Amino acid sequence: MKSPKIYKKLKNYTVVLIPEKNGKSKYFNISKKFLTYSFCSLLIIIVLLTSFFINYSNLKRKNLSYKTNNEQLNQSNLQKTAEIQSMKENMDKNNEELKNTEKELKNKLKELDELEVQIKEKLNNKGIHIESSNTINFELSSSEDIIKTADYKISSLTSLVNNVDKKLYIQAHKPSILPYYGTITSYFGVRKSPTSRGRSSEYHSGIDIGGSYGADIRCAADGIVEFAGWNGAYGKLIIVNHGNGYQTLYGHNSKLLVKSGQNVSKGQVISKMGSTGRSTGCHVHFEIRLNGNKINPLKVIK
Ligand SMILES: [Zn+2]
Repeated sequence: MKSPKIYKKLKNYTVVLIPEKNGKSKYFNISKKFLTYSFCSLLIIIVLLTSFFINYSNLKRKNLSYKTNNEQLNQSNLQKTAEIQSMKENMDKNNEELKNTEKELKNKLKELDELEVQIKEKLNNKGIHIESSNTINFELSSSEDIIKTADYKISSLTSLVNNVDKKLYIQAHKPSILPYYGTITSYFGVRKSPTSRGRSSEYHSGIDIGGSYGADIRCAADGIVEFAGWNGAYGKLIIVNHGNGYQTLYGHNSKLLVKSGQNVSKGQVISKMGSTGRSTGCHVHFEIRLNGNKINPLKVIK
């Protein structure tokens, strides 16, 4: 063994290759510097390779994890797509149902509209005139339109009902029948005075209807008896108040069947025909007053 001092002084190494059998040995001179560089290079390569390998493994691991995540995401994506599709289908179904309901509602509104027209026509035929309301526009495009129209229809029908009640009240309380159906012997207005044997004219405030003594005198409309008793030229008189400004008077009766303050209805027998008061024969003097003014009964009762 050489001492380290001597070893340090060495600059080259000789590698001898000796053949196993006969032959010449081969000598290679290698400098110490070359050997050192070679060793360093090898070391660097090893370090680099190790570092590369570590990085590569990390990347591979990360890539694997990304792949797994990606797969999970894909799966979740598929699930969501299916959910959206099912929601879409549900929405389509709901939309179709809504459309059908809207169509049905429109038809019902149309029926109501037609019914309203028919009711009004029937009322008109019965002498109850109701203003016609605006016709419905059936080009309804949205649910809001249908709701608005339904609201309008409801208010129109409510007003119709209220109107009918009012008109029925007015109709029942408006004189509509004559107290007796017989020969009209004297009309409303200026006439020859029957008591002067036609020598002078006078104003006749009602109509006279002739009939037999004791015939039924009927009330011309619903109302309350305002007066039942003797009244000068009218003889035995009945005055009925019908409200809405209407009063009817029945004169020259032989007998009174109602009392003051009593409720009477249209067609009710209230007295018997006679010739009391200023009268030349058996008849009923029938008079209608509207707001206190004497009017022609035949203009009110057709
Ligand atoms: Zn008269």
